[in-house]
Amino acid sequence: MTESDYPASWYAATRDADRPRPPLATTEEADVAVVGGGFAGLHTARLLARQGKRVMLLERRRIGWGASGRNGGFVGPGYAQRSGALIDRLGLDHARRLYAQSQRGVAIVRGAIAELGRPGILMGTGKLSVSRSDQGAGFADRTRKLAEQLGASFEPWPTGRTRSVLDTMRYHQAIHDPTSFHIHPLDLALALADDIERRGGRVHENTEAIALTRDGNGWRLRTPRGGVRARHVVLAGNADLGAVQPRIARAVLPVATYVAVTERLGPRLGEAIRWTGAISDTRRAGDYYRVVDGDRLLWGGRITTDTTEPPRLREMMRSDILSVYPQLGEIGIDYAWPGIMGYAPHKMPQVGEIEPGLWVCSAFGGHGVAQTAAGADAVAAGILGDPSRWHLFAPFGTGWAGGTAGRAATQLAYWGLQMRDWWDEKRQAQNAETLRT
Ligand SMILES: Cc1cc2nc3c(=O)[nH]c(=O)nc-3n(C[C@H](O)[C@H](O)[C@H](O)COP(=O)(O)OP(=O)(O)OC[C@H]3O[C@@H](n4cnc5c(N)ncnc54)[C@H](O)[C@@H]3O)c2cc1C
Repeated sequence: MTESDYPASWYAATRDADRPRPPLATTEEADVAVVGGGFAGLHTARLLARQGKRVMLLERRRIGWGASGRNGGFVGPGYAQRSGALIDRLGLDHARRLYAQSQRGVAIVRGAIAELGRPGILMGTGKLSVSRSDQGAGFADRTRKLAEQLGASFEPWPTGRTRSVLDTMRYHQAIHDPTSFHIHPLDLALALADDIERRGGRVHENTEAIALTRDGNGWRLRTPRGGVRARHVVLAGNADLGAVQPRIARAVLPVATYVAVTERLGPRLGEAIRWTGAISDTRRAGDYYRVVDGDRLLWGGRITTDTTEPPRLREMMRSDILSVYPQLGEIGIDYAWPGIMGYAPHKMPQVGEIEPGLWVCSAFGGHGVAQTAAGADAVAAGILGDPSRWHLFAPFGTGWAGGTAGRAATQLAYWGLQMRDWWDEKRQAQNAETLRT
């Protein structure tokens, strides 16, 4: 299959000029071969090329074609697994160091945008995580304590402050993270690929890695028309790795989520959302959104293990938007698209060396734009001889994600979590009603 263009999205429509790269048609040698042209593979290849390694990156379709070129564009620290759960499981010191690694990921993304001289990729700063149920009097103290434990910069906002910038009664308290920002993700992916090439690395699109075998003290990757022999191979194929390494492919569960971008909404959008940073709600499968292009709303949400695109996607996204901001009234959706996230059962990335010279950097779930850079940094450091960063991720293995049964179990778990969120909100609304009468 040859992919000559990107699937329709607002990002594809507004991306910087790009040029297709030729498929690999020869057999080559490299220090490091990277499978996957999303952020995980691109950051790994770029960090190693900066250190003088000969890198070769193979991408089945186009650079940024997967989740990396079609996500919400939020860049912030933390992981898909909640920090409290990580503290409970690993202890405070380990959880704090993992959080610091995610902050390093944020810094790498910020640094890359600055170094590449592409300030236009940065679209806004700050992030609000808003709660759809009242978190009670202890919220501020709990939030400050967690921030202090993790070495984080986030801070609590009371309900009045949240509603002063977001004109909806759906929301209560918020957590504000001033270190987060939001970007044009496809342009970042394209800029990273350019930089790899500028530093002497090679990038091949329309090149699927179809087989991997040991070869002396290195590895050999086969592609349909060529191959590469390398001392190290990094598997960064997300939920779509295919047959090249079945164990890792089975360990990552594909989960679909969706993004829509409205037509231009004019001043009514600025009246409803007086905040130029990113916004997400704290439900298990919540909404995430931001204002782009002056007066368009980019809205993401929903999670399902059914990876086929729903036929009424635009209507679904419109009704999600209006359930929070009914005052927007009639809104047209100019773009709507699906994307696939890769989850491991433990909701943490899979990062590390699984056999000598064979590395994995995958399963970044719903929280991957900075975390892929954090994982790439850990893998690159490992290849360069420092295992301390990827050892942070060692408690999270590459176990089987459960195949079809795993998908069904995950879907059931999500429905259960959504029911719990719905019930929390409903119970609070009933309590508020009782108090009023
Ligand atoms: C709709 C959506 C919204 C999201 N919003 C956010 C957000 O706002 N903030 C955030 O932090 N995270 C978000 N995420 C998650 C984040 O986008 C991902 O975690 C991250 O982009 C994963 O990067 P990756 O490189 O691991 O995977 P991908 O970007 O999917 O890249 C993997 C690439 O590997 C290629 N590949 C796979 N197998 C092979 C092979 N055998 N040979 C060659 N190439 C191969 C694929 O074609 C693909 O291009 C979102 C995800 C989605 C889908």
